[in-house]
Amino acid sequence: MQNIYEPIPVKIQKIQEYSESVKLFRLAKLDGSAFPLNEKGLVFMPGQFILAGMWGYGESPFGPASHPNDSSCIEIIVRKVGQVTSAFHSLKEGDELTLRGPYGNGYPVDFFSGKDVILVTGGCGIPPIASLIEHIISNRNDFGEVHLLYGATTPDDLLMKDRMNEWRKKINVVLTVDKPACNWDGNTGFVTDCLEHLKINPANTVAAMCGPGPMISAIENLLNPIGIPD
Ligand SMILES: Cc1cc2nc3c(=O)[nH]c(=O)nc-3n(C[C@H](O)[C@H](O)[C@H](O)COP(=O)(O)OP(=O)(O)OC[C@H]3O[C@@H](n4cnc5c(N)ncnc54)[C@H](O)[C@@H]3O)c2cc1C
Repeated sequence: MQNIYEPIPVKIQKIQEYSESVKLFRLAKLDGSAFPLNEKGLVFMPGQFILAGMWGYGESPFGPASHPNDSSCIEIIVRKVGQVTSAFHSLKEGDELTLRGPYGNGYPVDFFSGKDVILVTGGCGIPPIASLIEHIISNRNDFGEVHLLYGATTPDDLLMKDRMNEWRKKINVVLTVDKPACNWDGNTGFVTDCLEHLKINPANTVAAMCGPGPMISAIENLLNPIGIPD
């Protein structure tokens, strides 16, 4: 049985640089074995978090962005803000970290089953929503309409754009930015503006969110009065 409190040595298999301050790290177990699965056959529940650590620097929590079915690796997206995250950004492929968890409850995916799902996120909040999207796509018939509303300051701040073509084949992806660039063909404004343009059936819709507090409050102020829980 897995001990979620014991740090596992992992190797950085791949680093993808989204911007000067944001990188994706693909982590695989150092001994090459698979990550353990939970009772649902998943490495983690979408929305759970793990603690990634670097000897001499410390540990920080991250919400995995990878497919929860994929036991070969765990991907985290790290924004450089302080001591631990800056140390991570100095690493290269092949270097080692530790990883333990997962912790927390994650999103109630069984409760989402059979319902329309609205996913709302902003900026660096995309990782747990990305793992939820992968789970939904793998079990697409279990869910009704699925909408992703994703906002960021500029088009360059939108992460995981490389995965969105695949997502668009299965769910409705709506992107919006505060400050559009000249070649931007998505929406301009807040995710709340995009939400107001969706046709929603409140009786059979749930919402999952991850992002800045003010964004979550603004979305709750629109959804809760029409009876949609988050
Ligand atoms: C459940 C959960 C999931 C998360 N998932 C993600 C994720 O997927 N991706 C991600 O990038 N982040 C995620 N985070 C946030 C991430 O864990 C933190 O950004 C990280 O722990 C910061 O660690 P650090 O040592 O780099 O920063 P710290 O050094 O602890 O600094 C943190 C903040 O405090 C400020 N600060 C530090 N020292 C001072 C000081 N002396 N005075 C004033 N301000 C100071 C820093 O500028 C910075 O903004 C998550 C957090 C939680 C709780």
